[in-house]
Amino acid sequence: MQTLVLATTNRHKVEEIRRALVGFNVLPRPESLGSVPETEETFEGNALLKAIAVSKGVTAIALADDSGVVVPALDGAPGVHSARFAGEDATDLDNVEKLLRLMDGVLDRSAYFVCVLVLCRPDGKWISFEGKVEGRLSMDAVGTNGFGYDSIFVPSDGDGRSFGEFSMDEKNLMSHRAVAIRKMVEFINSPEGLEFFHL
Ligand code: IMP
Repeated sequence: MQTLVLATTNRHKVEEIRRALVGFNVLPRPESLGSVPETEETFEGNALLKAIAVSKGVTAIALADDSGVVVPALDGAPGVHSARFAGEDATDLDNVEKLLRLMDGVLDRSAYFVCVLVLCRPDGKWISFEGKVEGRLSMDAVGTNGFGYDSIFVPSDGDGRSFGEFSMDEKNLMSHRAVAIRKMVEFINSPEGLEFFHL
């Protein structure tokens, strides 16, 4: 069975990834490795930093992700700064409140979530997969499911509910992470993927 070592410790992300990668031995980030500073200005750059850091300490393939919400009317903010938008120790609620405050009076409420996954081999060879889901920001937080900005994100392909009102299974059908995971699974099952996993 192929082993993948995750760079994330976020239990929502670990759960989504584990569910999608049936047949893989998905291991959590080694405890000896602290969190990696996300100093890049792109999702792919940050995912790669995390994947490389993990792959150095293990003999298996590392899987890292970086994600966030992008608001064109705010010049792309929060973007790669989504997790710490309202400050270093910001809670999800702090981040949501800051974003809603900044959107006060802004007519264009369109937004999208992005997720970039990076697979990195111990020899440094890597490949990335991007998933995106378009939507808009609601006026207020609705729903308590999910995490992060879910309660204020209404996907365009949905029925008007926010991701905070979606069950995990519903969200997993269309989320940015689900799209990126689907692309990665397609790759893994392709001849190029078999070659990539042949360490
Ligand atoms: P990172 O990928 O760990 O750097 O953190 C990304 C941040 O973006 C999270 O802490 C959330 O605030 C936000 N985010 C990413 N994916 C989602 C999602 O599926 N729902 C809600 N918020 C998300």
